[in-house]
Amino acid sequence: MFILKNEIQFDMAHYLSGYEGKCKNIHGHRYRLIVKVASKTLHEGGQLRGMVDDFGNIKKVLKEIKEYFDHKLVLEDNEEGRKLADKLSELPNAFSILMLPYRTTAEEMSRHIYHMIKEKGINVREVELFETPTNSCIYMED
Ligand SMILES: [Zn+2]
Repeated sequence: MFILKNEIQFDMAHYLSGYEGKCKNIHGHRYRLIVKVASKTLHEGGQLRGMVDDFGNIKKVLKEIKEYFDHKLVLEDNEEGRKLADKLSELPNAFSILMLPYRTTAEEMSRHIYHMIKEKGINVREVELFETPTNSCIYMED
């Protein structure tokens, strides 16, 4: 089994809707995302001969993921989130807001990111998303 590993980091603000504790406040994280791409075999010919995949292909997809989340205020697409987005849109500053259909925990985000990578045709094996230097969630499927 061959496993390629690559990582990116991005900054994002969020809060946990319906949560009692510090995370109910809007706060930010520097997320660290580690992606593993696996294959039992290597390409036997052409441009990718001797490779699982071109590191450049993986980097391109990770760059798109970074741009999707980086420096956004991410809100859950529920009544509270939509109200907050409406209020913020009244201000002259055009904040970059991303609405997502889930509570933005490391678990939900890592599953979402796994599928974003898979949809780009990358044979992702697992993603590990660090929300802090010591807390991470690993998501993989069989
Ligand atoms: Zn948080």
